[in-house]
Amino acid sequence: MIGATTSGELRAHNRVRLLRAVHDCGATRTRSQLTRDLSLARGTASVLVAGLAEDELLHEEPAREHARGRPTQVPGPHPRGPLALAVDVREDAWELAACELGGRTTVLGLEPHDGTPEGALGSLGDAIATHRRRLGHRVIGVGVALAGPVRHGGLVDIAHLGWRSVDVPQLLGPDVERPIVGLVGGPVVGPIVGPIVGPIVGNDTAFAALAEARRGRLRGVRVGLHLHVDFDLGGVLVVEGRPLGGASGMGAEFGHMPLTGGDRLCPCGAIGCWGMDVGANALLRHVGLAYGGGRGRAQAEQVLATSEEAVAANARALGRGVAALVNAHDPEVVTLSGHGVELYERAGQALLDSCGPGLMAIRRDHPPTIEGSPLGWRGALLGAMESVFDAFLTPEGLEKWRENHPDQGRDTPERQNVTHSTLKGAKPL
Ligand SMILES: [Zn+2]
Repeated sequence: MIGATTSGELRAHNRVRLLRAVHDCGATRTRSQLTRDLSLARGTASVLVAGLAEDELLHEEPAREHARGRPTQVPGPHPRGPLALAVDVREDAWELAACELGGRTTVLGLEPHDGTPEGALGSLGDAIATHRRRLGHRVIGVGVALAGPVRHGGLVDIAHLGWRSVDVPQLLGPDVERPIVGLVGGPVVGPIVGPIVGPIVGNDTAFAALAEARRGRLRGVRVGLHLHVDFDLGGVLVVEGRPLGGASGMGAEFGHMPLTGGDRLCPCGAIGCWGMDVGANALLRHVGLAYGGGRGRAQAEQVLATSEEAVAANARALGRGVAALVNAHDPEVVTLSGHGVELYERAGQALLDSCGPGLMAIRRDHPPTIEGSPLGWRGALLGAMESVFDAFLTPEGLEKWRENHPDQGRDTPERQNVTHSTLKGAKPL
């Protein structure tokens, strides 16, 4: 335990540890299991849980199944507890969700956009403002994933859409406070502001990788490589649970490395980028359809479902690049999200056949496993959620939550609950 010297500090520290443990396990462990996990005295755990329930941070439900003996309780999210708003801004649409402690998500909106910064972020800012007003103090912050490199402070470039240094927090509007972090997985710095956590803007692949490290196949993996395939592809190395974002937050642009020997000019300005050969744009190009500008998702899905040749070409390009990155980084596991899951399912052998010869001879006996992400398309959204909870689950964040909770007015309309559903195809987290 670090820095807690008074009993008050110790209690604040243990409140954070307990909430963190509930969040990380997806609100599945019983109070007695958590008590053991955290090496707490049973009485201490009872007092902590009671205090957190009083603050509307935690709520206990009886365990569904328990061994003979006393019924046991499972701490989980409070029905009026904190919510992180999480957004995945893709090149053609955005998706907004509310996420509880433990990771349960409810989709609040899914809207196509025209690909311009104003078109995409204006309507999103309006939606965020509406839900913030509706949910009031429950909203602890907003995490936004975008399909391009993000510099500290939320400046985003999306080459395919012609976005250059787009100030995302500014375009989201005055209802969204000043950002405090831009680097996914990095330390949270800066003041705790407004609705506790300022907006957190990050790269979609880096967020997807963070989610993979917390709730997916990279959990507990020391060095992993995560690749996210949408219109093109992005990739990032994950070391001990943290995606490596580079000095300015713009690192990990593996899709913009010349790994497949191509010579096409990429919208990013470089020639021969790997991302030109993998993803929806490459699928469309392969069958002679128009591509680029974040258009053609439905047609690309059709190609993915019907054209074995286009799928195999995509998978081969993916495998070739994976080999180069495995040679460079020596990951234990390579995970694929977005269309990467379908590419692996439909043409896994083509991918492996293309990857194998690209590996150094010393790696061929024990190549890393390549796997589709169990989180599928939800990684970016869940990673955005994780970043908000990372910033909130601190002694300062919890203290701010208490301050925002005057006892009076507990049943005002702003305190209404979110009606929960799971995301399409979601498995319980
Ligand atoms: Zn490029």
